[in-house]
Order: sequence, then structure tokens, then C-alpha cells
Amino acid sequence: MINVKGLEKAYGSNKVLNGIDIEIAKGEVVVVIGPSGSGKSTFLRCLNLLEQPTGGDIEFDGISLLKGKQDINRLRQRMGMVFQQFNLFPHMTVLKNITLAPLKLRKLNGEQADKVARDLLRRIGLADKADSFPGQLSGGQKQRIAIARALAMSPDVMLFDEPTSALDPEMVGEVLDVMKELAAEGMTMVVVTHEMGFAREVGTRLIFMDGGKIVEQGKPAEVFANPQHPRTQDFLRKVL
Ligand code: ADP
Ligand code: MG
Repeated sequence: MINVKGLEKAYGSNKVLNGIDIEIAKGEVVVVIGPSGSGKSTFLRCLNLLEQPTGGDIEFDGISLLKGKQDINRLRQRMGMVFQQFNLFPHMTVLKNITLAPLKLRKLNGEQADKVARDLLRRIGLADKADSFPGQLSGGQKQRIAIARALAMSPDVMLFDEPTSALDPEMVGEVLDVMKELAAEGMTMVVVTHEMGFAREVGTRLIFMDGGKIVEQGKPAEVFANPQHPRTQDFLRKVL
């Protein structure tokens, strides 16, 4: 589904991604780990062109995102993204937060968009929060709403950038549960996280990044049990 070839990103003379190669198949849950500053967020942001790569290529269903003219809005509709800081619109109700993009970009009518939103809210256990404002919700609830908002566009891929890092510990589980369910339903996901339990349980592949490169990858249980690269060993010693 996604084929990344020699992906590079530099900010001025600072090379942040140094040639990332990865193919992601439909239904995979790729978990990305690595030290702070290793380029994990930049990699995700390049995938949906929130950042413009400075080298290499990304193909999505066989079509290059970087060569020729692409409809960036259509691409972003196919890739949902969830951030550490929920980025909900504070002056809009939960329902409005979720229906805004589908109304504008999916060309759903009001009734259709409301139904999509209410179905999603039910699925994440927050049906009763449709008319609440983000400020009235807990962090865990806000993040579940942010996931629902991304899903309302009916994406083919979901990108998560440390979705539980800003949460109080007791709220991490409810967000991971929503993500687990999504994975079980077959959603293709790329997840940057420090939640090693989630990586082990849900990840179909674990990627360790350092210095803007993929240093090591494999089945999560295998990488955890038997990391090959000294940097992976060093990192895992600190986090496990
Ligand atoms: P990670 O998510 O693994 O912590 P990032 O992708 O956020 O790493 O950052 C990788 C490097 O890129 C860091 O050194 C960071 O300072 C740099 N960087 C990220 N975004 C920008 C930006 N917009 N402008 C300049 N440098 C940036
Ligand atoms: Mg980051």
C-alpha cells in the first residue's frame, strides 16, 4: 500500500531523515520506536506530506506522491493522523469537530455526517458526549474523539504520533484499547509510541529509528527478545 524509497528530509543543513526504505502492506500495524530527535515525527509527517521531503519517493497504491502533481487534500483524506496534542477545535462541540471535515471534503450532507459521527462515538464509548465541548472532556476522552474525527474521513491508513504521551497514566489504556480494536478490524496503521506493551501485542512489525535511519526492524517479540544492533540494545535496555 505504501512504498517509501530512499526518503530524505533536511532542514537547511540538518539532515533529519537519511534514506528511509520501507514497504507497508494493507492491514499492517507498524510500530515506530527510537530516541527523541531520531526523526520519527518527521517520518510520519512526510508520509502525508505535512512536511515536504527533500529526497527519495513515496508511493501510495503505486502512485508517486512526489513526482508529478498530486491532489494533497485527497491524499490526506486517505491518511488519518492523530497527534500527541489532540488538536481538537475548542470552540466546537464534539459532534461538530467530527463532522467538519466530512461535510467539507467528503461532501456528505448534514444527516449523513451526523450519522457517521454518532456511529463512531458509539464505537469509542462516547455517544453521550456529542454536544460537549473539548474543554469538558478528560485527556483520554479528547484523544478518543481525535481518533474518531480522523476515522470520519474513512481513511485507508491511520498515522499516530505518540497518541498517549500527553495523557495521565490512568487514561492511556482507554486510548490504546480503541487503537487495538482498530487494528483488529484490519486498519493499516503506523504508530509512533513508547508503549512497548502495545508494540508487542498489536504491532505486526517494529521499526527502530536512530539518526534519521531505520536501524533495525522485525517482529516485535523478536526485536525485544534479541535486538541485533547495539543502538537498539541500548535503547531497549533503557525503556523495557
Ligand atoms: P522525533 O519525533 O523522533 O523526536 P523529530 O522528527 O521531531 O524527532 O525531529 C528530528 C530532528 O528534526 C530534530 O533534531 C529536530 O530538531 C529537527 N526538526 C524537526 N522539525 C523541524 C523543523 N520544523 N525545523 C527544523 N528542524 C526540525
Ligand atoms: Mg516526535
